[in-house]
Amino acid sequence: MLLGVLKESAPGETRVALQPESLKSLLAQGIEVVVEAGAGLAAGASDAAYAAAGARLTADRSSIFSNADVLPVVNAPDALDQAQLKPGAVVIGFLRPLDAPGALITAIDRPVTLFSMELVPRISRAQSMDALSSMATVAGYKAVIAAADLLPRMFPMMMTAAGTIPPARVFVIGAGVAGLQAIATARRLGAMVEAYDVRAAAGEQVRSLGAKFLDVDLGGISGEGQGGYAAELTEEALDRGRDLITRTAAHSDVVITTAQVPGRPAPRLIRRAAVDAMRPGSVLVDLAAPAGGNCELTQPGVTQHIGGVTLLAPLNLPAEVPGDASALYARNILNFLGLIAKKGALTIDLADEVLAGACVAHEGKPVNPRVAKLLESVKAPA
Ligand code: NAD
Repeated sequence: MLLGVLKESAPGETRVALQPESLKSLLAQGIEVVVEAGAGLAAGASDAAYAAAGARLTADRSSIFSNADVLPVVNAPDALDQAQLKPGAVVIGFLRPLDAPGALITAIDRPVTLFSMELVPRISRAQSMDALSSMATVAGYKAVIAAADLLPRMFPMMMTAAGTIPPARVFVIGAGVAGLQAIATARRLGAMVEAYDVRAAAGEQVRSLGAKFLDVDLGGISGEGQGGYAAELTEEALDRGRDLITRTAAHSDVVITTAQVPGRPAPRLIRRAAVDAMRPGSVLVDLAAPAGGNCELTQPGVTQHIGGVTLLAPLNLPAEVPGDASALYARNILNFLGLIAKKGALTIDLADEVLAGACVAHEGKPVNPRVAKLLESVKAPA
């Protein structure tokens, strides 16, 4: 079996799907590894390190597509690359099948097998393959570091001969994986942290990190949806959160917002009035920007300065910490590969709920039912 590691081609992408240290267990199974020259450079992995780990290096990208049996990737290859895939090959990565299913049709028709890391079921057995959580962890950390860098103040309280500097105040909206990491990072830097989430269960986790949890009476409805995620709220319940957010943002130096509801656009929680109420020099980081953003002023991917407030809306924060983001992702990928590469041979058993859940298409046909439905509408003649 030949496994290929590519240099990611998406603009701004710095991560790599497998690092040199990931190759040992693959080579031990007799899997051959070919790496595109420069694949890991931006993530701190040199060609020499891949070669020393036992990979073959090539500058011929096309030959990797046409020969590899397995291609772990960060982002989906473009249509030109997909057209060169070896029929029967397996591609695994953040393929965005729910956002851009049409962009995968060339690969599906080769046909190749596509597994999407976004679709890996969030069950205990698959926790070690949960790349969404890995990337949310990195994003939560980096959001705080980016805000601390821009803030005209320091995070920790400082008692000096020239007087006392009070700690920065950080407000985190949405205490899921990214939010909890943002809270932990801001606390380590010495900030005072408050957090809000519609899921009451998040309260205990927030408090265990030394932050204050802000409770909102949602008018008797539950913020908990299916599978431990948030429910989509009514406008009235959302408004109660928006009021709290406006009040809290006014005394916060940094607001980090991460609220999402699976399969829905990000809830609009931060009104223009909340941004106007923030002090000049404050920083708002909208981590929900890829899903449209939590702030009504957010322009995904654009940094804005609004009345002295800096509003960041990053689309790919993990790519700003490519070494560790790649290290975590590579481990998720290796664990996933363990389900389909047994003793160096490919075995795809779609009776396995993790594989079936993550499978976009196999042998030319869509597998995951949500993706299948979306693909039907993409393929349907106008
Ligand atoms: P997410 O990215 O979907 O959402 C981020 C947070 O936003 C969530 O905590 C959500 O409750 C919150 N939110 C949504 N609407 C909101 C609103 N209107 N106001 C305020 N907050 C709002 O969530 P996530 O980070 O992927 O994880 C959410 C939950 O799933 C957590 O309980 C997490 O521990 C759990 N989880 C389980 C597994 C697993 O079992 N393998 C893996 C990852 C996460």
